[in-house]
Amino acid sequence: MRRLPAQALKTLLLNTSGIELWPADVLRVRSNQDARVLAGAHTVLRRKQDGRYLAAVSTRGAHPLVPGLRHESGLDEAWDALEHLESSARGFDADAQGTLPLHALQERLDMLGLDEAYGEQRGLSLVAEPAALIFAGVDRYRRPLWLTGAAARAWLTMQRAARRDTIVLEAISGYRSHDYQLGIFARKLARGQTVEQILTVNAAPGYSEHHGGHALDIGTPGEPPAEESFEQTPAFAWLTRHAGDFGFVMSYPRDNPHGIVYEPWHWRFVRATVA
Ligand SMILES: [Zn+2]
Repeated sequence: MRRLPAQALKTLLLNTSGIELWPADVLRVRSNQDARVLAGAHTVLRRKQDGRYLAAVSTRGAHPLVPGLRHESGLDEAWDALEHLESSARGFDADAQGTLPLHALQERLDMLGLDEAYGEQRGLSLVAEPAALIFAGVDRYRRPLWLTGAAARAWLTMQRAARRDTIVLEAISGYRSHDYQLGIFARKLARGQTVEQILTVNAAPGYSEHHGGHALDIGTPGEPPAEESFEQTPAFAWLTRHAGDFGFVMSYPRDNPHGIVYEPWHWRFVRATVA
């Protein structure tokens, strides 16, 4: 296996329909056994549905971390994604990789009994996942924050600009996969809740702006995450004044047409207006 440029390896998440390819450096080490296996790896294959590590890839090859790895669904697609990165690593542009098809999501929504009526009622459409994401630092909980390349650059630039004005902006949550959201539904359905009950608390899988990699929830130290009280903070006042300069808009102001509650913490990158 060819050697990959260290920079690309450390900052890229390659996304495929069933498997994510993570930079080994970024992964939180979950056990001593993982630590040993991951020590020499540059990339880790991670099953999207449950976060399980499937294989560690080093310059010497792939080391399986589960029995029966070769029967894992979506494995060929994952290897193809890594090969594509290797062959184009020098000029790899994450945002030029496009988005993943939606058919796997649609099948699983059907299985959960979630139909298109939800999106139609809310005036929302399904949001596809990016095929590649960029490491945009860590969030409040020291978890890796993943965003599209353009959103990641804009977020980091905005965060630095805020800091110069003595404002600390923290990311609470960025990219989330369809599988992550589907997993929440699957667990709650298994506990006997109905889809209607779950929808009162959780957004339907596929319809969140977080799936697209250009939205993030923003907080500031000392404030609880994702609470309306965020609007009382100097951080929110700063965002209201300056976020537009960096291409960010608040997605769900009061009385938004989607019937989504007021979310002063949720911003999405639409375009850069300053270099
Ligand atoms: Zn959000």
